[in-house]
Amino acid sequence: MSHSTDIGSPGGSPEFRDPADLAAESARIYDICAGCRRCYNLCPSFTHLLDAIDGHDGEIQALSAAEDRRTVDLCFGCKLCYPLCPYTPPHRWGVDFPLLMQRAKVVRADREGIPLRDRLLGNPELLGRLGSAFPRVANWANRNRLLRWGMEKTLGVDRRRRLPRYGRRFSRWFRRQTPPPGVGRSGRVALFYTTPVEFNAPDVGVAAVRVLWRNGVEVTCPPQVCCGMPALDGGDVAGATRRARRNLESLGRAVAAGCDVVVPGPSCSRMLKHEYPRLVPGPATEQVVARVHDLSQYLVKLHGEGKLERTFAAPLGRVAYHAPCHLRVQEIGFKARDVLLLVPGTTVGVLERCTGMDGTWGFKNEFYDASLAVARPLLRELDAIRPDLVVSDCPLAALQIEQARGAPVYHPVEALLAAYEGRALRSAA
Ligand code: SF4
Ligand code: SF4
Repeated sequence: MSHSTDIGSPGGSPEFRDPADLAAESARIYDICAGCRRCYNLCPSFTHLLDAIDGHDGEIQALSAAEDRRTVDLCFGCKLCYPLCPYTPPHRWGVDFPLLMQRAKVVRADREGIPLRDRLLGNPELLGRLGSAFPRVANWANRNRLLRWGMEKTLGVDRRRRLPRYGRRFSRWFRRQTPPPGVGRSGRVALFYTTPVEFNAPDVGVAAVRVLWRNGVEVTCPPQVCCGMPALDGGDVAGATRRARRNLESLGRAVAAGCDVVVPGPSCSRMLKHEYPRLVPGPATEQVVARVHDLSQYLVKLHGEGKLERTFAAPLGRVAYHAPCHLRVQEIGFKARDVLLLVPGTTVGVLERCTGMDGTWGFKNEFYDASLAVARPLLRELDAIRPDLVVSDCPLAALQIEQARGAPVYHPVEALLAAYEGRALRSAA
């Protein structure tokens, strides 16, 4: 049986997909959690699990299949319980609760197949290509009440959820650019621009390139596909592994040519750093992963090397920075805050709260209300701060906050570019 410090990996261990092994491992970890309880109220999944165990007088074996299933369903994959837990590997108890939840989704997908909704949400490139081929139609359809009702009934995508907008594709913009003279003096990066930036938030990619160029960094955009996180979310290990292999091949060539890999989206950088070594274990993966940086992490590194331009033309005022879960679990500190604080006339309040979107969970009809409930403390804090500007590195978190407050949320690099260029950005609610 696979326990102690290794509960298996989707890419390597055959027992990872064995239902009996999973049941034994779930009972083992649930028992440890019932004794510890540190994560009670951390998320709906733990609250449900520990309440259910209490309902059975602490008897783990008495948990019903439905209670176990709901525990898995209510996990939205924020991964925050991992750094909180004192019993993660290399502790001999080897508790990895997020991996256990992911494993349960994979075993369920083996048994029941992957539902159409998860197949669609797990393939954001397909949706992105369709949406950006006909952006006006797609944006209209995503706002049309009747079509949204139909989408909810057939696909289970909640009709109240604001969907990402489609427009120009970032990669097309990039191909038409000519780098300014002198780039390369500060470094060379391969930009893993991410699917949301490619199809829904190209301005983030544009700002990233302009800020990097301004600071003397050469930027390439090697061939790339979605990082695979949405596929893995739905239990599609094969789909996630296929994407990981393609990206690793391409990014591996860029790294061999001397580039760092820079990623503007925390879910995608976490996927590269934490999941690729599990999906495609080996030294070639490790070589790429060692060079992966979150975008703000890279900018702070440039600053540490004395290479970041500090001539800013406008203050940012009172900034509220939402630190996304998938960045916090990378344990690299608050690099976006650090870089924005370099702008004179700027204060940054850090909000370490979950928005309850995490991947595809917040789009699903049955979890929409729970997703809003998770976001409520963050929204209350935002109202109390009354910021001039709200920033988040996560495009899905931004979607949730924008929908709730009716005001724009920017990526930190958009704020930095605006400060360089002397433009005022505002997120007045
Ligand atoms: S995941 Fe770790 S910290 Fe959280 S309840 Fe379980 S044992 Fe405790
Ligand atoms: S990964 Fe997040 S949602 Fe899942 S159990 Fe851990 S804290 Fe809860």
